[in-house]
Amino acid sequence: MRVLQGIPVSSGIVIGHVFVLDHDPHRVARWTVGADRVEAELERLDRAFADAIAAIDEVYAEASDEMGVEAAKIFLFHKGMLADPSLIGPIREMIRHERVNAEHAVVVAFDALAEAFRRAKDSAFRTKTDDIRDLTNRLLDHLMGSGPARLADLLHPTVIVATDLTPSQTAGFDRDKVVGFVTDLGGRTSHTAIVATALGYPAVVGCRGATAAAKPGQTVIVDGDRGLILLDPDEAEITKYRGYIEQQRTYKLSLAEVAGLPSVTRDGVPITLLGNVEFPEECDSILAQGGEGVGLYRSEFLYLSQDTIPTEEDHYLAYADCVRRLDGLPLTVRTVDLGSDKYASSDRRPRERNPALGLRSIRYSLADKPKFQKQLRAVLRASALGPVKIMFPMVTTVGELRHAKMVLRDVMEDLEEEGVAFDRGIRVGVMIEVPSAALIAGSLAAEVDFFSIGTNDLVQYTLAVDRTNEQVAGLYQPVHAGVLQLIRGVVRAAAKEGDIEVSCCGEAAGEIDYALLLIGLGLRRLSVPGSAISHLKRLVRSVTVQQCERVARKVRTFDSEIQAAAYLRDRTRKLVPEAFDGRAAELRD
Ligand code: PEP
Ligand code: MG
Repeated sequence: MRVLQGIPVSSGIVIGHVFVLDHDPHRVARWTVGADRVEAELERLDRAFADAIAAIDEVYAEASDEMGVEAAKIFLFHKGMLADPSLIGPIREMIRHERVNAEHAVVVAFDALAEAFRRAKDSAFRTKTDDIRDLTNRLLDHLMGSGPARLADLLHPTVIVATDLTPSQTAGFDRDKVVGFVTDLGGRTSHTAIVATALGYPAVVGCRGATAAAKPGQTVIVDGDRGLILLDPDEAEITKYRGYIEQQRTYKLSLAEVAGLPSVTRDGVPITLLGNVEFPEECDSILAQGGEGVGLYRSEFLYLSQDTIPTEEDHYLAYADCVRRLDGLPLTVRTVDLGSDKYASSDRRPRERNPALGLRSIRYSLADKPKFQKQLRAVLRASALGPVKIMFPMVTTVGELRHAKMVLRDVMEDLEEEGVAFDRGIRVGVMIEVPSAALIAGSLAAEVDFFSIGTNDLVQYTLAVDRTNEQVAGLYQPVHAGVLQLIRGVVRAAAKEGDIEVSCCGEAAGEIDYALLLIGLGLRRLSVPGSAISHLKRLVRSVTVQQCERVARKVRTFDSEIQAAAYLRDRTRKLVPEAFDGRAAELRD
């Protein structure tokens, strides 16, 4: 048995069989094919291409059903590449003339293609290198795999082990077979992690050495609560973990009872619990968990899951779908937050030296007004169907916010002139996710109807810690006194400078310890992954605001984040023991 520690990003435990998704191309052997075997080798190659195309067709059909046609379009692009004769032609030539095995010829050809893409002046090509890696792996699966090594043939509950995964890969897994995943790279709030939570896969990221250590077909336990993976576990561990799984099942059942109850503290203060979504389909689970609407729709996922730039209609259909599913509850559409770690394959910009500090989020939208206007038109049109709010991400100055609002006003005037219906009183908000915005919250409050504090980025920018980098994950501390001071300042400014609504929508708000702290800091609205809603509702119903405030006051006095986190954990456990029964209690020991 081998135990590896990574970063827990999506809760739950699964026991499954390893499927190593990444083939290290350098480990693919080269051998010479006898003259009489060349034709057979070419046939093997053709079959692998045909099988890969058929498998993509299936993935496309399933992904369209589960995530919608737009989100599944990336697979059409993959299919188009494999069907292009200029790709397979040189591979066939190599096998025929150099008499090498098909795997080797595939790796050489795709390596050359990836290199050409990487060097291309046009950044649209450079962003395609991940897709080429995807396709190389897919072809190698069909050439080298047999039995359980082929994803399409998997019979068992399967755990994907990979160096890294893209959101489209994660969303494309067959959810009847794949039960969890583990990656070597990534941080707690990287967007692969966010997709894992959205789709309900227990997951561990930043688990260095996992791909090298895991063997195809091996039994693995993924402990998404503790961030552990156990390769080839012994019987005693399997029995212990089966017990945990049972405890979790019972706990989830008990949460179902809470879902329909009001989210009110013991002393009668309502705490609004909303959901974060990346795909419209997720709205259903937000409602099922007892959420009161969507506090954050990450609209950039429209760009990330398709190869072409979304049209106004693409935007509109997605928002209208959410509004319909939410059935009268509010939808907050955040305008696209592209850049940093989220690049659309249709993006044609040159690569930036420091993308987290570059042309991302609202800066990106303001730099491409026609694209921005298209999105705003769609959001406004959807606002005629039900309650919709607009939120601008990563605003750093008042000028930037005014600029965005001016574009919105222009779009409203156009729609008026065209006689298109929309909500003229649509509420407009900003994300507070950089220290400068938090520090000028008073001025921003005068300009908007609401704030949403994004701790994922606020922590990253306040502490100068890359949220996607597993090497500095230990420094990523949402309880840092500096972060808490900023949050407190924002809550106060929101109340003082305009009495506007303020919520928190970072991943940390979904953790019960941190949610308790946020309530203590004055927050009354939390927007969290759907899976966390009923868990938080139980917390809310078990505490008084005064208790939360006392805890928050104390946490802010620690100069060590480790001590602050330990104190917070300890107090939360004492105040809400019912949220820690069974397995959860053991986790906290
Ligand atoms: C955040 O930064 O906290 C946030 C919610 O936005 P995202 O995770 O999409 O950057
Ligand atoms: Mg953010």
